[in-house]
Amino acid sequence: IEVNITPILGKGNTNIGAVMVLHDITDLRKLETMRRDFVANVSHELRTPVTSLKGYAETLLDGALDDPETAREFVRIILTESERLRMLVDDLLELSRIESGKDSVEWQKIDVSALLHSLEVKLRPQLEARQIELTVVCPEKLPYAWGDYSMIEQVLTNLTDNAIKYSAIGEKVKIVASEKSDGILFEVIDSGPGIPEHDLPRVFERFYRVDKGRNRKQGGTGLGLAIVKHILETHGTRIQVESTLGRGSRFYFMLRNKL
Ligand code: ADP
Repeated sequence: IEVNITPILGKGNTNIGAVMVLHDITDLRKLETMRRDFVANVSHELRTPVTSLKGYAETLLDGALDDPETAREFVRIILTESERLRMLVDDLLELSRIESGKDSVEWQKIDVSALLHSLEVKLRPQLEARQIELTVVCPEKLPYAWGDYSMIEQVLTNLTDNAIKYSAIGEKVKIVASEKSDGILFEVIDSGPGIPEHDLPRVFERFYRVDKGRNRKQGGTGLGLAIVKHILETHGTRIQVESTLGRGSRFYFMLRNKL
């Protein structure tokens, strides 16, 4: 708290009282701390793949190049790490664009069924790689949903990507769209590992990961859900989640069916 005291002077400059103003600067401080933490987190996230790239390149020059087998393995790691770096930079840019408000929502009528089917086609490689069966449930006569097509596609991609990534090989993932009295409900449901209750409110924070080791292997940027949260906020709605440890998760949100 910041305190300002101004004396009130009466006749002959006698002090007859004082005005005390208390400023609550907690929010400002919090914002500043968050900003500092974010920069520290970004630096850390960038440093990890860069250190690894440098390490493998140096080892190659130091002699590993002479062994074609080892060399090929190292070059493959260098490719994977560069890809991780590219994804991270892309996600950071995306998040900053949404937050700065530059990428404003272009309200459109979204044909939900068409969107979900194009999503299914796009996700086919990931689905096949993990032998996940994706079911899309969408009534034929669903009204249009209002939103920015590419942003909503991004939201559903991130949610479904996670559902696929965190499920065990061979499990099922479901995307459901349905009409409610106040709009269209979208649900992405998996029967993966679930999220512990105390982590649930935090999974939408940037770089928050439930299980660090697990995620590094799966190669996420830790920004997917933060992007989802921001996009839906710019649409005047919000992402919600229900999850049971060992049972699976359900991420869901509503979009308006009229402007
Ligand atoms: P990441 O790139 O690590 O997947 P996200 O922001 O998309 O980052 O998700 C944040 C964290 O929330 C993940 O690291 C993971 O621990 C957890 N998470 C997200 N979706 C799921 C899911 N469907 N099942 C289990 N855990 C999930």
